[in-house]
Amino acid sequence: MNNFELYNPVNYIFGRGQIAKLAEVTPKNTKILLAYGGGSIFKNGVYDQVKTALAGYDCIEFGGIEPNPRYETLMKAVELIRAENIGFVLAIGGGSVIDGVKFISAAVNYPGDAIEILKQRILFKDASVCVPFGTVLTLPATGSEMNSGAVVTIDATQEKLTLGGSALFPKFSIVDPTVIASLPKRQLQNGVVDAFTHVMEQYLTYPHDAQLQDRIAESILQTLIEISPSVVENPTDYKLASNFVWSATMALNGLIQKGVPSDWATHMIGHELTALYEIDHARTLAIIGPNLYRVMFETKKEKLAQYGQRVWNLTGTPDEIAKAAIDKTVNFFHTMGMKTRISENAENIEGTADFIVQRFEERGWLGLGERQNVTLEKVREIVTLSY
Ligand code: NAP
Ligand code: FE
Repeated sequence: MNNFELYNPVNYIFGRGQIAKLAEVTPKNTKILLAYGGGSIFKNGVYDQVKTALAGYDCIEFGGIEPNPRYETLMKAVELIRAENIGFVLAIGGGSVIDGVKFISAAVNYPGDAIEILKQRILFKDASVCVPFGTVLTLPATGSEMNSGAVVTIDATQEKLTLGGSALFPKFSIVDPTVIASLPKRQLQNGVVDAFTHVMEQYLTYPHDAQLQDRIAESILQTLIEISPSVVENPTDYKLASNFVWSATMALNGLIQKGVPSDWATHMIGHELTALYEIDHARTLAIIGPNLYRVMFETKKEKLAQYGQRVWNLTGTPDEIAKAAIDKTVNFFHTMGMKTRISENAENIEGTADFIVQRFEERGWLGLGERQNVTLEKVREIVTLSY
């Protein structure tokens, strides 16, 4: 097993009715910014629950953080925090609102031009320079409620870039599985596929000796496979909802990544498709993931065979199982409503592969993946295979 440090300071508060606990964890001696998205929280009662829990607090609101949060929008919240001297932010929403708040937290006291945070991938390790924040999660998918990473889109240049660092963990996250009842089916399906792919990014690499991490990763995949057809049809079922929400958090809270190699090339390529065509994040992963496994088959086939055998109960020679496991994955994504070609999700896509390769080259991203062997040529091949 590789050496590792496991640091996760998030006070993770899970279960029915837990939003009422907000007052126990939100600081009382400062102004609070309530940050949210396009207004779903007004329709499903989450806003009312938050306001009830925070009665007597001095709150200011900032709404309109869009899916795939925009740098341009987030900077308006940064200005508001500076002008109003706000000391704590509460993110109420899905991955986009939480990621947006992580950027806001980092940008408020950033001494330079805040766009550098994204363009130069500044790492935030000193919590004293970041504005503290907590979250109320409304969409299980990203794990952002229990990790310290985020993804932000720069509208002006159509770039989707990451930021993070140990200073950007939420102070707490309130995770009530009943809030998923109001999610549209498409978002539930997206959540399943995003969480599933998070596990694959950290599991489907090459054989190593971290047996426990493999078994945990396989358990999360199996749980998602088992419950997802029912949970997307019946998100009010608490047993299904609670297992789904916890699986999505566990998929990307850092635990299964410790001591093992990780890939993340599917996400890096997928981000480009969202930036270019506004394809939902999870849908880009369903498009790219399986084609990456095909193109990188030689270096991933042992782990693909393990995955096929243990997660899908496939039999045959290792090569047969490895190939069949990719088909199983694609079928699973189809049952989750995914359209697994770029052309089924966007128009005028010629030149996409060249464009992405050129961007990666400009950024110096010459080798992605667990072995840095997803070269620009491989990226071109993966994207072309995905048309
Ligand atoms: P999202 O973009 O936060 O939300 C998608 C849509 O769902 C929004 O329109 C939102 O509406 C709505 N919604 C959220 N909760 C709802 C509820 N309970 N009922 C009804 N509608 C609800 O979706 P997401 O998949 O959670 O986040 C995607 C973003 O996270 C992407 O930018 C992706 O790149 C990023 N991401 C981050 C990480 C990480 O580790 N930080 C990992 C993977 C992906 P409102 O706007 O009205 O609330
Ligand atoms: Fe993701």
